[in-house]
Amino acid sequence: MTDYPKPPFKPQQQTVPGDQSRMDPYPDCGETTYKGSGRMSNKIALITGGDSGIGRAVAIAYAREGADVAISYLDEHEDAKETARWVEEAGRQCLLLPGDLAEKTQCLSIVDETVKKFGRIDVLVNNAAFQMSHKTLEEIPDEEWVKTFDINITAMFRICKAAVPHMAAGSSIINTSSVNSDSPKPTLLPYAATKGAIANFTAGLAQLLGERGIRVNSVAPGPIWTPLIVSTMTDEDVKSFGEETPLGRPGQPVEVSPIYVLLGSDEGSYISGTRYGVTGGKPIL
Ligand code: NAD
Ligand code: MG
Repeated sequence: MTDYPKPPFKPQQQTVPGDQSRMDPYPDCGETTYKGSGRMSNKIALITGGDSGIGRAVAIAYAREGADVAISYLDEHEDAKETARWVEEAGRQCLLLPGDLAEKTQCLSIVDETVKKFGRIDVLVNNAAFQMSHKTLEEIPDEEWVKTFDINITAMFRICKAAVPHMAAGSSIINTSSVNSDSPKPTLLPYAATKGAIANFTAGLAQLLGERGIRVNSVAPGPIWTPLIVSTMTDEDVKSFGEETPLGRPGQPVEVSPIYVLLGSDEGSYISGTRYGVTGGKPIL
């Protein structure tokens, strides 16, 4: 039995993209708890949004399972350095790749830099995302709609296209979707639409890449306690965050990373085209 934090949470509004070190309670990315057992020995992983939240938990887990990791992030240099510190403490290498994935050049450059340093990509985790809450349709700026699609789904297409030539048979692509993919929260309209697109893109890409032996899956987290939440939701929403789930609390990033390990490791060798929920009991069918 784990004793993770439950609502109510304190008000703590931040600006996008958020700073994990200022969150209270501090999200648990497995820094002091995740135990590896060689399940990803000598693999090379590229993780977008790897500085904080779910991406950091995946980076820590992968490193402790024996992988070297490259992490892309917007501009949260302190959070990224903290992730790198944990990766290096596990005896693995960490390449830091800051920059805006709304730009095509940045999508191509994170793949190039990773291949330059490590020679190939075995596991690609497309996990970076932008969201913003709005109460009405009229409130959503047109530019923000386009930006949300650029970062969340167009970047994913570009990164996959650039990475696949460097991925051998047995490699794995894991895309972070959301429970919003089929149960859209109306205040997150553009974001939820991109998450539906990600789930669909993943299912199609798995069929396209099957003959090359590359597996593709998506993960659909429910409410997870990360900087994304405190930088894009109101204090009122933050206060009760995760309360509506059957477990009555948000998940911590470390509770999401084990599924990324399964999907990224050779143990997942027949798992492709699937969507995994990590939802605290909220059904996804
Ligand atoms: P997070 O804020 O820790 O991670 C998101 C990361 O995306 C950021 O660290 C940031 O560096 C990166 N990013 C944002 N805009 C970018 C840009 N323009 N260019 C490059 N990088 C950019 O939050 P998280 O909750 O761990 O998010 C990880 C993934 O999990 C996202 O895809 C998110 O949609 C998904 N998710 C989160 C929840 C939740 O409740 N937290 C629920 C379902 C899905
Ligand atoms: Mg961050």
